[in-house]
Amino acid sequence: GPVILWFRRDLRLDDNPALLAAWRTGAPLIPVYIHASEEEAPWASGAASRWWLHWSLKALDEALQAHGNRLWLLRGPSLETLERLVQETNASAVHWNRLYEPAIRARDTQIKERLRTLGVRCASHNASLLFEPWEVLSESKQPYRVFSAFWRACERRWSVAAPQPAPAQLPAGPQPSGAIPLETLALLPKIPWDQGLHATWTPGEQGALDRARAFIAASLPDYGQLRDRPDRPSTSYLSPHLHVGEISLPRLLSLIADACGDPRALATAFVRELGWREFGHHLLYHFPETIDRPLDRRFERFPWAGEETEHLLRAWKRGHTGIPLVDAGMRELWHTGWMHNRVRMVVASLLTKNLLIPWQEGARWFWDTLVDADLANNTLGWQWTAGCGADAAPYYRIFNPVLQGQKFDPEGAYVRRWCPELARLPNRFLHQPWTAPAEVLNTAGIRLGHDYPEPIVDLAASRVRALAAWEGLRS
Ligand code: FAD
Repeated sequence: GPVILWFRRDLRLDDNPALLAAWRTGAPLIPVYIHASEEEAPWASGAASRWWLHWSLKALDEALQAHGNRLWLLRGPSLETLERLVQETNASAVHWNRLYEPAIRARDTQIKERLRTLGVRCASHNASLLFEPWEVLSESKQPYRVFSAFWRACERRWSVAAPQPAPAQLPAGPQPSGAIPLETLALLPKIPWDQGLHATWTPGEQGALDRARAFIAASLPDYGQLRDRPDRPSTSYLSPHLHVGEISLPRLLSLIADACGDPRALATAFVRELGWREFGHHLLYHFPETIDRPLDRRFERFPWAGEETEHLLRAWKRGHTGIPLVDAGMRELWHTGWMHNRVRMVVASLLTKNLLIPWQEGARWFWDTLVDADLANNTLGWQWTAGCGADAAPYYRIFNPVLQGQKFDPEGAYVRRWCPELARLPNRFLHQPWTAPAEVLNTAGIRLGHDYPEPIVDLAASRVRALAAWEGLRS
């Protein structure tokens, strides 16, 4: 019988292990995507991720058509849908690439067991990580909690296979009943707020390859020096492409090798960031409860500010905190679905430390607005910044958004781009407009509290308050 190729977050043909394994059987292929967002609850895709998924599925269908096949969209639940599909098509096997979120792993195990009782061969493959989370363990067979030790262990076992292009022809199997058109999934927003996303991104495999090539040519050489600068296009912007698997890591590393030699020698800083992504998946796999609980359990008793923070949270989400670097970041996020890593740390630090709002609130907002929303990386990033995760920044490291702005956006290009109402402020005051003398504000055409907010929090006093909360927790 035919073989089912179940696409999930591996939306590419190139270097796709499940696709290759399915193709090697020589049987006709039935490529499917099953929409079952309720199975990812409570972390079903947010609005920005759904937008991305729509265009990525469309691109994947077009790519499959160019290879003599097509993508069939089905509605979940996944188990029943696959069972029905196997029965009606008499399929002999199902191939897919693995995911590591706790709810999805539990579901996939169940599917494997069920399909095997029906006599169907099930095989899962690794298409998204350099190392499986269970492969990298300490000498005492424990998962790592510290990045540097984790990454050293990864480097010791480094072996990245050469990427495998997709076969030219992918012979088509029978059409499944119940296949639906893409529009039926209603992934696009009803209110069109997505112009900024369209202007910024090209979802799909080709978009991912173009982005990787452009990054390698233009920014990789200076990545180590400039990666912390939000005022320049210094990073790869590959995160949403990597999240849905539009480019494989072996492909990315081989593009780097073609351009500049061994990536581990010549692109260390960049490969190390891919290492943080591996680490995020490692933690999610070994500590699945951390998606909403702190890895450092002491933080379950952390004295968060409580209910009277609604208006502060709202101001943060909208980019109306009165702190320019934070507002620029939050507006970049809203407009493009992405935010520079340095600024993510700064806005997360402000929320969790200066405002004492639980990191879970911030993680939720990011989840809904990021095109790269990823449970492993988002949890890692939020817990790291809040000081309650693996290898976290020491709690007393509270980012000062003024100093961060002066250091990493020295000419203010980033703040001026996203907070144009501040554009005419001289650099000296740009990252702290509340310190500007009245005549400077006047000349720049800014009335604080009117054209641009007064800061919603006193940075110095709130820092002292956060440190006191932490001292209370430690003692
Ligand atoms: P580059 O600098 O070009 O890095 C290349 C790739 O390495 C990225 O695409 C990403 O896959 C990985 N990477 C880089 N930095 C990190 C990191 N610190 N942790 C894990 N992986 C990393 N990243 C997400 O992909 N999804 C998220 O939901 C997410 N949420 C975050 C939340 C917070 C509070 C913080 C501080 C960071 C978060 N990150 C998240 C990590 C990081 O900010 C983004 O991966 C990065 O900004 C993406 O831009 P880029 O592709 O240009 O990165």
